[in-house]
Amino acid sequence: MTGETTLSVVVPMYNEEAVIDGLVARLRPVLDDLHVDYEVVAVDDGSRDATVALLTARARDWPQLRVVRLRRNSGHQAALTAGLHRARGRWVVSLDADLQDPPETIAEMLRLARAGAAVVYGVRADRSTDTFFKRHTARIYYRLMRRIVGAEVPAQAGDFRMVSREVVQTLRRLPEHNPVYRLLIPALGFPSAEVRYVREARHAGQTKYPLPRMIALAWDSVANFSAAPLRLATWLGTGSFLACLALMAFGVIGHLRGVTIPGWTSLFVAVLLLGGVQLVCLGLLGEYVGRIYAAVQNRPTFHVGSDTADDRPTGTEHR
Ligand code: UDP
Ligand code: MG
Repeated sequence: MTGETTLSVVVPMYNEEAVIDGLVARLRPVLDDLHVDYEVVAVDDGSRDATVALLTARARDWPQLRVVRLRRNSGHQAALTAGLHRARGRWVVSLDADLQDPPETIAEMLRLARAGAAVVYGVRADRSTDTFFKRHTARIYYRLMRRIVGAEVPAQAGDFRMVSREVVQTLRRLPEHNPVYRLLIPALGFPSAEVRYVREARHAGQTKYPLPRMIALAWDSVANFSAAPLRLATWLGTGSFLACLALMAFGVIGHLRGVTIPGWTSLFVAVLLLGGVQLVCLGLLGEYVGRIYAAVQNRPTFHVGSDTADDRPTGTEHR
């Protein structure tokens, strides 16, 4: 490649052997038609199937395809970070490997980016190919996030977006440990634009976001941007304390008047309820302490094992 790279396409991949041929067949003509200098940064997120072998084979006759390998599975957002950090393009677009985000949209994104938008969001105008469950959990998620982070967060904008070099550099300087890019990027406040697209069905293979990972992403999203759960703990504690005071007064006054509340049930309900409230509050506190601990340790969240472009030493990278 000569001169400056105009566009980098970052594609995180975890056990995506089933979609690689389809992806290459559809992505390559789209990118070639743009007539710009581009690179495709395929980030292998520690796949255990033939993903790397297939990518390496495809890279032989597609020189713009670059393969960055993470040593172990580090998660979607970490794989995205690795790709963003290594991308060389003036603009960087991130794309799911499974062709749920139509690559044809990239042309329109690039047009808007050239017209001055530092961030171009891909907004899913139609998710009818997603399951009922995924659509509805997603709706709740985006509604909640707009409340927490602010109205700048576009609803239904996932990780299909284009950002400029300046945005990438700003992101690299942030000491964020578990970045959730779909919230972090809107929070930076760069001028932005939107492209609406129809979310397609997964080309092949299985989703890599089972329910536990969806919950983890949702919790990361809340905890990264808000201390409201801690305030909730305070209110929960205050509320139960006041209720207990009232009950106590009721019990003592009753007793002085000669009416004792009958034993057992009232006792164990009170003990269990208070114990439960305490454990929930402790757990919430622990979640935030754990995040502080991870931030203080500052261990890298991914390790780059190799990069076929190899223009700089590979090895451990932070964040
Ligand atoms: N992915 C990844 N690491 C993981 C999980 C997922 O790099 O640990 C990639 C995956 O290969 C895909 C993208 O993240 O390119 C989105 O995953 P998927 O399409 O399975 O999620 P869904 O569309 O079902 O939410
Ligand atoms: Mg998908």
